[in-house]
Amino acid sequence: MGDENARGGKTALVLGGGIGGIVVANELRRQLASKHRVIVFERTQQHVFAPSLLWLLIGDRQLDFIRTPLSRLLHAGIEVVYAGVDRIDAQQREVSAAGIAYRGDALVVALGAELAPQRVPGLQAAGYNLYTAEGALALRDVLRSFRKGRIVVLTATPAYKCPAAPYEAAMLIEYECRRNRCRNDVTIDLYAAEPAPMGVAGPAVSAGVQALLQDKSIGYHPGLQVIEVDREARRILFADNSSAEYDLLAYVPPHRAPDVVVDAGLTGEGGWVSVDRHTLETSHPGVYAIGDVTSIPLTMGKPLPKAGVFAHRQAEVVAHNIAQAWNGRGSALNFDGHGLCFVEIGDGQAGIGSGNFYAEPVPAVKLRRPSRYRHLLKVLFERIWLRRFPMTWFVRR
Ligand SMILES: Cc1cc2nc3c(=O)[nH]c(=O)nc-3n(C[C@H](O)[C@H](O)[C@H](O)COP(=O)(O)OP(=O)(O)OC[C@H]3O[C@@H](n4cnc5c(N)ncnc54)[C@H](O)[C@@H]3O)c2cc1C
Repeated sequence: MGDENARGGKTALVLGGGIGGIVVANELRRQLASKHRVIVFERTQQHVFAPSLLWLLIGDRQLDFIRTPLSRLLHAGIEVVYAGVDRIDAQQREVSAAGIAYRGDALVVALGAELAPQRVPGLQAAGYNLYTAEGALALRDVLRSFRKGRIVVLTATPAYKCPAAPYEAAMLIEYECRRNRCRNDVTIDLYAAEPAPMGVAGPAVSAGVQALLQDKSIGYHPGLQVIEVDREARRILFADNSSAEYDLLAYVPPHRAPDVVVDAGLTGEGGWVSVDRHTLETSHPGVYAIGDVTSIPLTMGKPLPKAGVFAHRQAEVVAHNIAQAWNGRGSALNFDGHGLCFVEIGDGQAGIGSGNFYAEPVPAVKLRRPSRYRHLLKVLFERIWLRRFPMTWFVRR
């Protein structure tokens, strides 16, 4: 056993040092006395700010600018185990990493979503994964010399993290083609497994995003489920027997919960962790799950989208509630489903979708029109996140 708190305090185990894990660990450290231990488990030493991958792919950022050592984002006094978590015992609030077992008084699972391009035959070898730094960099290099042909952006499943991202990618690629003076010789099409863009946000937001695509002459083909990609023929095959041809393919892969979470029996029927929608507690007392690893059903029948903005706010709520219980003062907070999301469209402009995703009977979300100001807000957010972590960015209402 690696861990008995000799200081007479309690121990919080934070699994995952991505957006949710960073926020929950910092907030716990800020709110708890030093006798309490906060331990983060993360398999990578470098944190990449995923929203900036979209700028990476059009060459507006260098990789070194959007990644930073995890240690730089964590407050002093947080312990970090740089190793993969390979076992979780939720009942005992115990985990193992690098052969050592750790037991906690609270456990926060923030392990995100795994990308699984291999689930679609041919996909991985045929195209560029928009959701990894390697994929974005390789696509950037190809775009630099791409002057003529068919570019296709594809979503392999209807649900994926950051529902705006493939739409932003298509519009940024369009912008890049204009910058490279080849727009007239290039067609850009988005083939989507989902029936409409950002569907959980409602029909007005979907229509707004579709209008943006139309303005840029990007073809949109929703509701098509890819079953296979034929790399030799450069052809995508869909479940309804239709197909699409491409010269350059960029894709959003299927997602799944990390194996260690599945093996722990934490996932439900949908393959993700079920939690209380307000407290983020799982069915095991003292065990919480936040961010992409969870699935929170909404009354309208679809789950809350996976997004950093929700991981961030959920982390604040969970940290506050753990600290409140351990400190024995204050009152508990609820996660209320509010969030906002930038929609980058190129030309230094971005729109913002924001509202209450827990509103009944359907989320109340508005898309604010793209502007330079909104783009600069995202730039500012990126700078603050990467340079000095915004602990209380989402100021308590
Ligand atoms: C291209 C792109 C653009 C995006 N844009 C936006 C945006 O504009 N706005 C927005 O809100 N969201 C955006 N997102 C989504 C956002 O990045 C995710 O929703 C967010 O990172 C989820 O946070 P998380 O903490 O749940 O998971 P993550 O940030 O993915 O963190 C999970 C961490 O767990 C670690 N891990 C996994 N398994 C193990 C293990 N066994 N042991 C140890 N560590 C492990 C991983 O290495 C990772 O660091 C974007 C995503 C992409 C890909």
